[in-house]
Amino acid sequence: MAAEIRTFTCLNDNFGYLIHDPATKATASIDAPEAAPIIKALEREGWTLTDILVTHHHHDHVGGIAELKQKYHCRVVAPHDKSTKIANVDLRAAHGDVIKVGSLLARVLETPGHTLDHISYVFDTEKAVFAADTLFSIGCGRVFEGNYPMMWDSLLKLRALPDDFKLYCGHEYTASNVKFALTVDGDNPALKARAEEVTRLRAENKPTIPVLLGEEKKANVFLRADEPSVAAKLHMKGASAVEVFGELRERKNKS
Ligand SMILES: [Zn+2]
Repeated sequence: MAAEIRTFTCLNDNFGYLIHDPATKATASIDAPEAAPIIKALEREGWTLTDILVTHHHHDHVGGIAELKQKYHCRVVAPHDKSTKIANVDLRAAHGDVIKVGSLLARVLETPGHTLDHISYVFDTEKAVFAADTLFSIGCGRVFEGNYPMMWDSLLKLRALPDDFKLYCGHEYTASNVKFALTVDGDNPALKARAEEVTRLRAENKPTIPVLLGEEKKANVFLRADEPSVAAKLHMKGASAVEVFGELRERKNKS
């Protein structure tokens, strides 16, 4: 039986995600921005929370852990980097580790840059990647704790996943990402198509996530920083991918 994934809103613009294994009835929440909408989603489905897979230490990703842990006695899996304070952790996950959620398998990718502890969870069989605040649709996370080479390297790890994998990211930032991307990459047909889709989805009050990685590789200018055409658009011919990526990120920060 195929895994079931549910997407809903937490806080203002965080995504809540549940992944459920019908075979064992195990259910994982990817991060826990706040408990109430996660409990509501679980009760709607009749599922019991068995695991929380934490991507990084920011409060809007861990704020609901304590309450969920108390209610469900679930296992909390968190990044290996112990320098950050995440309470109630049962298991630490590092690059290459495989985390079991019932019979589902989540492969851990270390994707630092936004924070130093940031990890992403790849469900290869389900063709799903939960990349939280590393890769957004048509954007990427702000580089708070790491540096541009580190973040670019993390994006390359995600870009290396197959085109038919679905991206589940941490925030509904797609519309504002599109607005910025059009200012530098406005003649990209894949971006224009995504822009139209996003306008339609938002008008219908629907999430813009998940999105196929294959589409994202063509439409997301941050994943294309090593393409000479992108360097040319920024008047940076001959610059390295990291330099182009850094310039894109700086411009987005100021936008
Ligand atoms: Zn964050």
